[in-house]
Amino acid sequence: VNCEELRNGDLIERYVAGDLDAAARDRVEAHYFECDDCFEQVQLARALREEFPGPPRVRERPVLAYAALAAGLILVAACGAWIVMLRRENLELEQRLARAASPPPAAIERQAQEIAALRTRLDALSQPELNAPIVDLEPDDRVRRGGAPSPVVELAGGVRQITFVLTAGEVLGPGPYSVSIVDGAGRVVWESSGLRRSRFDTFTLAVPAALLPTGAIAIRLRSTADTRPGRVQEYDFRVVRR
Ligand SMILES: [Zn+2]
Repeated sequence: VNCEELRNGDLIERYVAGDLDAAARDRVEAHYFECDDCFEQVQLARALREEFPGPPRVRERPVLAYAALAAGLILVAACGAWIVMLRRENLELEQRLARAASPPPAAIERQAQEIAALRTRLDALSQPELNAPIVDLEPDDRVRRGGAPSPVVELAGGVRQITFVLTAGEVLGPGPYSVSIVDGAGRVVWESSGLRRSRFDTFTLAVPAALLPTGAIAIRLRSTADTRPGRVQEYDFRVVRR
C-alpha cells in the first residue's frame, strides 16, 4: 500500500472504524507506521471519529429513510381509505337509526287510540261499582256431604268484579295460604300467595270478571307451611254469562 492508495479510497476511514479484515489492516499499518503524512491522516480520522461518532454505513441511510417514508405513505393512504369506509358505514347506520326512531304516522295514530281506550278503562275502574256481586262458597267436601250440586255464578255484562267469601274447611293447615284459580281443563288461570284467614274463619278474594272463564272453575287453597298432599281445600262453581 502506498500513500495514494491509502488516501484516495476509504481505507483510512474503514481502518479507523475497524471494518478491515486482518490482512488489509496489516497492510495499512505497515505503511502508516513508516509514513509520517499517512500517520497524521490516521490520527486525524481517529480524532474526527471520536468527535462525531455515528453509524458507519452513511450511504445506506437515505435509501432506508425513503423506504420508511414510502411505507409510511402507503399506511397513511390505507388508513385514509379505511376512515372513508368507516365514515360511510357510520352515515348509513345513522340514517337507518333515524328511520327506526320515527315510526310511520299510522302507527302513531294507532298508539294514540290505544292510549285513549286505556285511559277510558282506567277512569271506569276508579269509579264505585253498583250491585257488585258477592258469592259465598263452602268447601267441596262440605257441599258433597250435603249432596248439593256446585253453585252457579251468574255474571251480567256490566259486572267488573266478583267478591268471593270462602268458608275455611277442616283440611287446611296453618296460614298463610296460597290460592289459585283453575279452569275446567285444569289450567291455572291465576295464582298468588299471602291469603289470610279472617276472624270469621273465612277468606275473601275479589276477582276481576274478565279473569274468570265461562264454565267450570275451581278455587284452590293450600297452606304454604303444610304442603302435604290432600291438604288442598277446593271450591268448585260454574260461571254463566248473561
Ligand atoms: Zn504515506
